[in-house]
Amino acid sequence: MLKIENYIKSDSLQQAKELYRLDVYTLLGGGTLSRLYDQSFIGGIDIAHLLGNKILEEEHQIIIQAMTSLRSIEESPVLRTWYGSVFKDCVAHLGGVQLRNMISAGGTVAARQGTSEFLSVLLALDASLDLYGIGLIALEQYLQGGYEKDIIVSLHIPCKTARIHLSSVRKNYTDASMLHAVVYRDEKTWRIVVGARPMRAKLCSKASRMLEQEKEPDSKEVIDLAMDELAFATDLRATSEYRESVCPVLLRRAIQEVLS
Ligand SMILES: Cc1cc2nc3c(=O)[nH]c(=O)nc-3n(C[C@H](O)[C@H](O)[C@H](O)COP(=O)(O)OP(=O)(O)OC[C@H]3O[C@@H](n4cnc5c(N)ncnc54)[C@H](O)[C@@H]3O)c2cc1C
Repeated sequence: MLKIENYIKSDSLQQAKELYRLDVYTLLGGGTLSRLYDQSFIGGIDIAHLLGNKILEEEHQIIIQAMTSLRSIEESPVLRTWYGSVFKDCVAHLGGVQLRNMISAGGTVAARQGTSEFLSVLLALDASLDLYGIGLIALEQYLQGGYEKDIIVSLHIPCKTARIHLSSVRKNYTDASMLHAVVYRDEKTWRIVVGARPMRAKLCSKASRMLEQEKEPDSKEVIDLAMDELAFATDLRATSEYRESVCPVLLRRAIQEVLS
């Protein structure tokens, strides 16, 4: 259980950043995951009032401010207009509406959980993050590590005429997925992402490129190449062997969906 001696309502993001750099302080987004950590801190820094909670459409991009709840993302007409049901599909399994009303987009990205379907969808959409004092960086770069003590201000998603589909497998409706795959396709680009391996979501760049070279989209060659790019492991939810055997099926389904 998380223990915090002092609650700090930060005056500015600069102050929050300076305190957060000290290991005795933690940053609070929705506070839903943090409160489950078995850790003690001198201070918990609340920045919710300094970050927005809106979804905005501006100059060929959608901006999701860091304190936007997963529930708002699930219900957003802007996200639905551009990308259909994928944003609803990637968060709807997460607890109940009450929990999704509390979980923030920024906290979900910062937690970098391998099971996060929201993160995999963002990666497939080639999203970027605005980090306070740094500026925009690609989500792909952020997921490779570093930036652990940086504050996410907003998420930026390009607006493209595209198709995207999430395929996942889970035991019960509200369980985290045992494995999931997201396939994105626009006029020129394909992006294949696999998450819950159970490691962090991975972009299969070679298989995605092969698809761009107009290979038979759901050919064995493409799926085999994607499988070569991926590693799987065992955790409480599934074995590596199970994940490895299910993955080609999820990939094929997702590819067929974006082709249909
Ligand atoms: C009961 C429960 C069930 C869940 N089930 C699933 C599931 O099935 N699948 C799944 O993928 N995930 C699941 N999650 C995780 C969830 O998706 C979110 O990742 C998580 O709850 C974080 O949300 P939060 O906004 O409350 O962040 P917090 O708990 O506040 O923060 C999480 C981390 O991010 C940091 N942080 C917060 N905001 C920012 C910011 N703006 N900038 C930088 N760092 C920040 C915090 O310091 C902390 O380290 C579950 C969580 C809970 C509580």
